[in-house]
Amino acid sequence: MDIPILLCKDEQKKPIPEDSELVFGKTFTNHMFFMHYNDSKWQNPRIIPYQPFEMDPACAVLHYSQEIFEGMKAFRHPDDTINLFRPYENAERMNLSAERMCMPKLNKDLFVKAIIEVVRVDKEWVPKSPGTSLYIRPTMIASETYLGLRPSNEYYFFVILSPVGYFFKDGFKPTKAYVATENVRATPGGTGEAKTGGNYAGTLYETQKAKDLGYPQVIWLDSLERKYIDEGSAMNIIFVVDDELYTPPLIGTILPGITRKSVLELAENLGYTTHEEMLDINVLAEQIKNNQCTEAFFVGTAASITPIGEIFFKQENYTINGGEVGPITKHLYDELIGIQTGKIPDRFNWTVKVG
Ligand SMILES: *Cc1c(COP(=O)(O)O)cnc(C)c1O
Repeated sequence: MDIPILLCKDEQKKPIPEDSELVFGKTFTNHMFFMHYNDSKWQNPRIIPYQPFEMDPACAVLHYSQEIFEGMKAFRHPDDTINLFRPYENAERMNLSAERMCMPKLNKDLFVKAIIEVVRVDKEWVPKSPGTSLYIRPTMIASETYLGLRPSNEYYFFVILSPVGYFFKDGFKPTKAYVATENVRATPGGTGEAKTGGNYAGTLYETQKAKDLGYPQVIWLDSLERKYIDEGSAMNIIFVVDDELYTPPLIGTILPGITRKSVLELAENLGYTTHEEMLDINVLAEQIKNNQCTEAFFVGTAASITPIGEIFFKQENYTINGGEVGPITKHLYDELIGIQTGKIPDRFNWTVKVG
């Protein structure tokens, strides 16, 4: 497969921000990958200067949210090469999201090649300092001008790049999470396992409530019994009980995270026992109280591994490991970040060199 990608260079270069000024998702590089879909095929893959689109107000995505996206990162290694983390997994998942949302699939090799080439063009934007990386956002939107409710016949696919520092301002420190007992994120048969915009818009209300109470993160429960843990708003969740790892199974309401999958594989490789099973929040709350559940953390590309120091559930606070980062969380974090940043040799073949 060798589809040529046209390159139109940006002549007016924006200044590259200092690593210390990086804020998640605010600054974008000079170029973007772009292609459009009509006449039943993807057309004219190209790298162009980063720029706004012109859109008709009747454009389908603006009304019915037919859109999907991905999130992945490129890291600068000590030898100054730039490396992607498991990009074929993102290609695969984007196609699963596309299928659920009636959108056209992408050739997986073209998806990865597009990312490699656009990152290569802007590679001086990949920051160097510890904890920093280049966040990559592939996105597909329904671009047809039409208000009828049916899948669009036209799409845009684009990839934009944003240099990022630590996702959480305070770095690797435990966060606080609020268990949502009223609203839900996803339902069986819904779109929870697709990375599609509407899933996130629906979480804002409860998240805002949680933030006002001092909890930056929300833990979502299942929609039928409000009892089993699903995940966070944009991150999966793992608990350590009796020194073994527990995470909910992928039953359709949970986004199949690549970090989740990698951490489970890594944990098994390091000799930990892992379980994918339904987790009752009431049981976990008891286990936190009696010190059987000693650690909990979120997993996702944007923030990698984020320890949870405190959980708010039904008017009660549950402090985990005295609000400190636990040893298993730290071990897995060091291994995962080590592999991603090239400080630990990649024994899994997860990294793909950009150049
Ligand atoms: C993207 C996402 C995750 C994490 O997936 P990664 O592939 O690890 O980044 C988890 N949950 C939700 C809802 C997400 O959108």
